[in-house]
Amino acid sequence: MTNYLTDPRFEGIKPFENRVWLASPTMHGDEQKWVNDAFEKNWITTAGENIDEIERLIAVKVGRKQAVALSAGTAALHLAIKLAGEKLYGQPMIGHGTLEGKKVFCSDMTFDATINGICYENGTPVFIDSEYETWNMDPQALEKAYEVYPDVKLIVVAHLYGTPGKIDEIRKIADQHGALIVEDAAESFGATYNGIQTGCFGDYSVISFNGNKIITGSAGGMLLCNDEEDANKIRKWSTQSREDAPWYQHEELGYNYRMSNIIAGVVRGQLPYLEEHIAQKKAIYERYKEGLADLPIKMNTFLSNSNPNYWLSCVLIDKDAMCETVRGEKKALFNHVTEKSCPTEILEALSAFNADGRPIWKPMHIQPLYRMHPFITANGNGRARSNAYIYETGLVDVGADIFERGLCLPSDNKMTIEQQEVVIDIIHKCFR
Ligand SMILES: *Cc1c(COP(=O)(O)O)cnc(C)c1O
Repeated sequence: MTNYLTDPRFEGIKPFENRVWLASPTMHGDEQKWVNDAFEKNWITTAGENIDEIERLIAVKVGRKQAVALSAGTAALHLAIKLAGEKLYGQPMIGHGTLEGKKVFCSDMTFDATINGICYENGTPVFIDSEYETWNMDPQALEKAYEVYPDVKLIVVAHLYGTPGKIDEIRKIADQHGALIVEDAAESFGATYNGIQTGCFGDYSVISFNGNKIITGSAGGMLLCNDEEDANKIRKWSTQSREDAPWYQHEELGYNYRMSNIIAGVVRGQLPYLEEHIAQKKAIYERYKEGLADLPIKMNTFLSNSNPNYWLSCVLIDKDAMCETVRGEKKALFNHVTEKSCPTEILEALSAFNADGRPIWKPMHIQPLYRMHPFITANGNGRARSNAYIYETGLVDVGADIFERGLCLPSDNKMTIEQQEVVIDIIHKCFR
């Protein structure tokens, strides 16, 4: 590996004293107050005012009738997918999932938590390729998927990096086929599409309070829906499915997925700062856009009808500015040449100077776990494939292409303008 600290291209740049993070928690003090409140009242478990209050506030903020606080976004996605599965196919026997033998269309380039719930319920994910405008599920590829699998009744779709996808078009296709949508808005809390908050577009929607999201509870997630009966069912499932009886009576399988009132206190303290965090992230995005404008790279883009929450600033290197590079399953190699670079080089250089970037989410259709799963592109000719296949054939789909040429830049709220200027400088030097 290059020694970036002694490489003459980077002469004069000093490593950051403290790590510049991709996205770290930004606390304001109110969080501690609500956590202390829970301690003082001894409501430190899975019931209490903090939980009630964030369910109420987030339902109002997003514009949904119901919100249920859960232990993680992944747990919320699992129960959202399970509820959708039960609505579609009924309650499964013990030992079977609600999606047993069923295919589910889902985002391909995403964090694996989007997909896990489908597999927990024994469904078969069918991965739908991404589009270049928002990096989310391509409605055209979704239409193709319906030509191949006309009976699919569930679509799980994510808004990546805080940028709303083409959700109106996806909803139209879903309605044409009588399909339900589970919306993974884990990364996009506060983002809007046509003035409507993400989290409103799924039959069941999910946001996350994981440590690096736009606001955090240190952990936690929220399921959003409109029907009170559905919300109460999720509350019941998440607390071991106890029936209303004098003893522990069970008619349904239970889960231990409820949020604790301590975590809810952190979320409650963060909520008033959501818009402030979005404004900070937007400023970071715009500084990158300006500072990198002279390089052969583009920022991640969004639709003109959308306001992202700018959770992570990402870039895509132009095809002809990519140096030769190959990624195996766990290692990457590249050959640097003047005026070219690649995500691996930029990430290594950033790390050498103590800044934290990240590759784009590696698409599911090139994950070893899902190698035998169907994958559909806009021109229809898709199936799961290996990195080596793509490298050798050059048959690059959108998701694999964005993964190959893209990366996430340090996007921490607390990054100073001076630190960001150094990051921009490091990226420039990578292309020397
Ligand atoms: C963070 C995230 C989730 C949920 O994550 P948790 O850590 O379980 O809260 C789900 N989907 C996406 C796309 C995410 O980024």
